[in-house]
Amino acid sequence: MKVAVIAFQGDVSEHIRMTEEAMKELGIGGSVVAARRRKDLEGADAVILPGGESTTISKRLRASGMDEKLREMAGEGKGIMGTCAGCILLAKKGDEEVEKTDTKLLGLMDMEIDRNAFGRQRESFETELNVEGIGKINAVFIRAPAILRTWGDCRTISEFEGMGVAAVQGKLMALSFHPELTDDCRMHGEFLKNAAKD
Ligand code: GLN
Repeated sequence: MKVAVIAFQGDVSEHIRMTEEAMKELGIGGSVVAARRRKDLEGADAVILPGGESTTISKRLRASGMDEKLREMAGEGKGIMGTCAGCILLAKKGDEEVEKTDTKLLGLMDMEIDRNAFGRQRESFETELNVEGIGKINAVFIRAPAILRTWGDCRTISEFEGMGVAAVQGKLMALSFHPELTDDCRMHGEFLKNAAKD
């Protein structure tokens, strides 16, 4: 399995390390690469879109043609996991701030997000979450978005303070938090198991 981590911003090396660890635990062979150009995504079976600043990442995705490639890959049934800013970019519907900043979402998941839902209260915090299919995990939130609403095939699999913080739609996974900042690779494992299905 080839996994590509989009490497414009965010915890790229942490995502690579966690993915490698999860692959080892699950006995999945393959490689994990940092992707900066469209061609780095060639042959990838799964992609991770890290956090950072969604407006900047969206501009760089468009400038590199990777936005188009990611839409193509989702259409082919490849796995894509977006964390924090990545979660925002996966959504079909943004909020006022997304509109004001003219941030172009990838629009792959049937969900509506509030871009800075948790950031307005507290810049960052760590809390325990219950995630469907996994159980209890520690989650780190940094100026985190919330998943306000899902429809169609998209499903919320974890909530915090009455708002969605994790959702899945087929092989696509959106997380408000940063699973790469703990020493628990189960979220990455869950994503890879799902992405590896026929
Ligand atoms: N809320 C930020 C944004 O709008 C994302 C924060 C993060 O990725 N840590 O892009």
